[in-house]
Amino acid sequence: MGKGQRIKAERRSKREAQIRKRATEAAQILMECPVAGKFFPTGIYADPVSFNGGTFNNVNAPCPHCGAKHSGSDAELVLAN
Ligand SMILES: [Zn+2]
Repeated sequence: MGKGQRIKAERRSKREAQIRKRATEAAQILMECPVAGKFFPTGIYADPVSFNGGTFNNVNAPCPHCGAKHSGSDAELVLAN
């Protein structure tokens, strides 16, 4: 393998490692208040794979915007980045 090819291979494996890290890094789940239309942190952390797997549809969190307790089923959940 020539020098150029080796550098390319190293760059590729670094990039793949970064993607893997991003994919498994836990981030806080944010919930959208259906009343105020604003997102607020739930205090619950998830990694993107579990989050996208739908494991967090039953998250309950008190809302700082309207004071009610929202659940994942009546509010929209997103993963903070
Ligand atoms: Zn609310």
